[in-house]
Amino acid sequence: MKDFENLQRICLEEVRAAGIEPGNIVKWTINRRAKSRWGLCIRHRNGACEIQIASVLLEDERVSEAACKDTMIHEILHSCKGGNGHTGKWKEYAEIMNQKYGYHIKRQTSGEEKGLENYRSKSNPVRYYFKCTGCGQMVMRKRKCDFTKYYKRYVCAYCGKRFKRVKEPEM
Ligand SMILES: [Zn+2]
Ligand SMILES: [Zn+2]
Repeated sequence: MKDFENLQRICLEEVRAAGIEPGNIVKWTINRRAKSRWGLCIRHRNGACEIQIASVLLEDERVSEAACKDTMIHEILHSCKGGNGHTGKWKEYAEIMNQKYGYHIKRQTSGEEKGLENYRSKSNPVRYYFKCTGCGQMVMRKRKCDFTKYYKRYVCAYCGKRFKRVKEPEM
């Protein structure tokens, strides 16, 4: 098990040392259920951010510390002002971090790139992806249900905004 708290501290230091100001991150959590995403940055209505990191990154010995930090920084960059989505400011910041520290921060990273062979194929039966247009929260469903049919009627539990359907996870 990697030292999660220590990694948080180091990642935040690296981001700041690159001249990037992280958002107001009030909570870090380990997500044991999500198999189809490495991390998530949830922006609450008051602007405070919560970052979730998949437990496999912290617990699996095959995942290097750098690969784990890659995701943590990916999510920290989402907490920054203007850091929603994977274009604009976020992309600009990711490029700065990649150049300065040799990370490979990008929109999506495969299991193989994290050192986990066949990770995704075994554990990603998700077919429907929805993204909150406010905080960016992803909702994933494996099969058709009321939510996949009527997602336009639902609002996000975190920020109250609507969802849009997306082809693949944007995290
Ligand atoms: Zn939301
Ligand atoms: Zn992302």
